[in-house]
Order: sequence, then structure tokens, then C-alpha cells
Amino acid sequence: MRWHRYYWLLAPFTLPNVLISLLLAAFYRPTSARWHDGCLELVAGTYDDGSTRIWGSPGAQCLGCQVVWFRSERHRDKGWLAVHERVHAIHGLWGLGVVFAVAYLGHFLYEWVRDGFGPWRPAYRRIWSERIAYRIDHEYMVGLRPEAWGDR
Ligand SMILES: [Zn+2]
Repeated sequence: MRWHRYYWLLAPFTLPNVLISLLLAAFYRPTSARWHDGCLELVAGTYDDGSTRIWGSPGAQCLGCQVVWFRSERHRDKGWLAVHERVHAIHGLWGLGVVFAVAYLGHFLYEWVRDGFGPWRPAYRRIWSERIAYRIDHEYMVGLRPEAWGDR
């Protein structure tokens, strides 16, 4: 059973996350958009020098709802990345959107303070949602989860 198809029933709680994700379109200037496998998949545009408009260095970004931004179409077509972002989509739906966002950011800040405001990446990798997403995308890559949500 494709149980995640029914998670849209929780979507009204993620409305703030969805609105912020869609407002990012003003900055990211999407080059493509499609509804695919339960998520709106958007590809960020590029500046004149060819660099992508997506902030930071992520291959993809999901603010805890069913809107996923990808750095490029090449990134969008990576199954493990789509699976990773859909873990955040699920967490956002379970966590009722804003609660997820506050918990995610709060956990990051807690870990970063523990590190004495050192490099941010180790703190980011210890966020509970990231630990689960990286574990699941790895299990997908090595063939342990062939039917993970987001599978290409
Ligand atoms: Zn992640």
C-alpha cells in the first residue's frame, strides 16, 4: 500500500511551510515545476554566470512539507536525493509543519551551541531529521529500501 498518498490530509497544517517554500520562487526563479510522486518538485534557476540561485550548497531543500527545491534537473533525477528530501516532507507532515520547523532549527542551534559555534556542518548532520534522512537515503542507495518514497 502506498500509504504516503494519504498524508496530504495533514497538509493544511503545513500551510506556513508551503507558503514560505513557494515564496522562495521569487528568489530561486524556478525553471521547471512538476507534481511528482506526492510532492511539488521545483528546479531552481541560475544566475548569468551559471551558478544556481538556491541558497547555500544543498542539492535539494525541503522545509518540511510537500514542496521540494532541487539545485538542478540533474539533482532532481537522483533517487537518493529525492528519497532524502521526502523524509523531511514526512517529518514536516507528522510534525504539523511549523512545529517541525521549530524543532529542526532548535535542534540545530542546540548542537551548534554544544560545538561552541564551530563549523555548522557537523551540527547540521546531528539534527534528528538529518540523521534519519541520511540513513534512509543510504539504505536506498545500497538497495535496502527499493520502494522508498521518492524512488526514481
Ligand atoms: Zn536533509
